[in-house]
Amino acid sequence: MKIAIIGGGPAGLMAAEAASAAGAQVDVYDSMASVGRKFLLAGKGGLNLTHSEPPENFLAHYGTRGAQLAPLLASFGPVALRVWARGLGIDTFVGSSGRVFPINLKAAPLLRAWLRRLRQARVQFHVRHRWIGWDERGALSLATSQGIQTAQADAVVLALGGGSWPNLGSDATWVPLLGERGLCIAPLQPANCGFDVGWSEHFRTKFSGTPVKSVAVIVRNDAGAESRCPGEFVITETGVEGGVIYTVSATLRNEIQAKGVALLHLDLTPDREIQRVVYDLSRPRGTRTMATHLERRVGIEGVKAGLLREVVSKEDFADPVRLAAAIKSLPLRLIAPRPLEEAISTAGGVPFEALNTRLMVRSLPGVFCAGEMLDWEAPTGGYLLTACFATGYAAGIGAVEWLNKGGTSEAVSRLG
Ligand SMILES: Cc1cc2nc3c(=O)[nH]c(=O)nc-3n(C[C@H](O)[C@H](O)[C@H](O)COP(=O)(O)OP(=O)(O)OC[C@H]3O[C@@H](n4cnc5c(N)ncnc54)[C@H](O)[C@@H]3O)c2cc1C
Repeated sequence: MKIAIIGGGPAGLMAAEAASAAGAQVDVYDSMASVGRKFLLAGKGGLNLTHSEPPENFLAHYGTRGAQLAPLLASFGPVALRVWARGLGIDTFVGSSGRVFPINLKAAPLLRAWLRRLRQARVQFHVRHRWIGWDERGALSLATSQGIQTAQADAVVLALGGGSWPNLGSDATWVPLLGERGLCIAPLQPANCGFDVGWSEHFRTKFSGTPVKSVAVIVRNDAGAESRCPGEFVITETGVEGGVIYTVSATLRNEIQAKGVALLHLDLTPDREIQRVVYDLSRPRGTRTMATHLERRVGIEGVKAGLLREVVSKEDFADPVRLAAAIKSLPLRLIAPRPLEEAISTAGGVPFEALNTRLMVRSLPGVFCAGEMLDWEAPTGGYLLTACFATGYAAGIGAVEWLNKGGTSEAVSRLG
């Protein structure tokens, strides 16, 4: 039984491992000169493999896609992932936030050990092989430096990634290829992304690259429910990006899509009640400027003071009550998400409705999909990689099961 995996990211490699362990002969094809490039990049800032919270909390991070991912995460979820990493000689630890990391925080040792084990299991790797579709006989067409080659496989797992950081391989060129086959792909969109604000020249020059720490962001979702997330972010040339912005980025992106603009509110002093801020600002300031008063009494200076100056009118800045209100709920008008290429991950992709429970495309028997190319999204926190591993595992096992049951359209319906 021969299974081709196209895409050597975490989802594809997990599909390769699962299929190989279940007895298949596995070939992995990737367009780049080496596999796992985005995975390696993810390890640069500390590889957040998964999260240690209870399953029901974990699942909630996938929003409406939680229902489809639940059975897959039950088969290969956060606990299984940690056991699997330990099997590769990589112990993990739970950070203070509940996030799970490899002991040395890096991706490279894990990837090296994983590739060694896959090669020992006789998984064959074919790098610089770009999948460009199927030929007229149904064989896989692959663009290589020696020209177009074809490969036959009894089943295929596509694990081609989303569209962010295309220089690392996932460039979304698969979208039209599957579109031509009649698949209706949900438009790819940036997820866990930054946003444009359109700073004044003065603010941009002075503060671009500056972190804004110990704040809370307040957003309202489509249903009007308010959520408040503490954290930090960074001022960019054009707007804002980073941790706490990524957490609320799906809501903000959807709001911009619906209304053309999204409103984000910043609490610049999350540990101080508004009454206290009013009281502090209302104390006599003598000959001190309001800026000095603000710094001495409320501890607001630097970039936080700059943000107030950027957004608040001169009159409001001089009024303790109105200034306090702005400090506790400073409105930032976001005009556009940053482009998909810059995002951490991708929303949209192959909809679950087009797949059976083993992630086989219903209209393309023998073709399975896994990883970020599927239509789900989640915040950072280990949820992205965990779902990639879980869907890769399900697709790898699913392909073998399908072939074991005869690999026919009837087998499709038997698999559900
Ligand atoms: C800066 C950054 C940091 C991140 N940090 C984390 C983190 O700490 N924790 C976390 O959970 N997630 C993190 N992520 C997200 C995570 O890396 C991705 O969700 C994950 O790599 C997606 O896995 P995948 O296998 O679906 O796709 P990818 O990893 O994108 O792999 C897809 C593969 O398919 C290949 N390919 C694409 N098209 C073709 C083609 N036509 N023919 C052949 N091969 C093709 C590509 O070359 C690539 O190797 C981070 C992402 C970024 C950008």
